Amino acid sequence: MEKDGLVIVYTGNGKGKTTAALGMVLRAVGYNLKICMIQFIKGSWHYGELDSSKRLEPEFELITAGKGFVGIIDDKSPREEHERMAQEALRISKEKIQSGKYDIIILDEVNYAINLDLIDVNDVLDLINSKPSNLNLVLTGNYVKPKIVEASDLVTEMNEIKHPFKSGIKAKRGIDF
Ligand code: ATP
Ligand code: MG
Repeated sequence: MEKDGLVIVYTGNGKGKTTAALGMVLRAVGYNLKICMIQFIKGSWHYGELDSSKRLEPEFELITAGKGFVGIIDDKSPREEHERMAQEALRISKEKIQSGKYDIIILDEVNYAINLDLIDVNDVLDLINSKPSNLNLVLTGNYVKPKIVEASDLVTEMNEIKHPFKSGIKAKRGIDF
């Protein structure tokens, strides 16, 4: 039996999870597929894809729903604010998934939002289980929950062997953001 839409996960501690999802976008736009990426955690830094995504419109739509990084780096907002934003990202995701308008929907950093208890893993499982059968759903972020792995078709773990951050090299424009 051939499955129409896959559930794909990019997880692990190595770099490349969001990059892999964006690579898929580039490939899919080549076939005029409709793609929506909803970012769950990002929001306070500027990322190159916020601008380049406009060149891939109307096939590609990027929605920044999250708010900074919870508890790390540049986080100045209270936890309730993060919760509210993550719940809002979940609501938007549900709406987009059920609209039936997309070939691929990417929930970027959603695994972090689950792991930080900003959203409930069961709510994400409901999204997976109620998606249109031909929709490809991509979930990124480290610390993927076993329940999500079980509900997925493709799971790739990015494994850090080396990262320049560990030798004090800062995040680079066009490479990291
Ligand atoms: P990218 O967006 O570069 O594909 P990612 O999605 O795999 O990275 P995230 O966990 O979303 O990684 O982390 C976001 C930020 O942290 C990015 O700027 C990324 O380059 C950086 N980063 C990713 N992996 C590591 C690592 N192993 N050590 C240090 N920084 C990392
Ligand atoms: Mg990422």
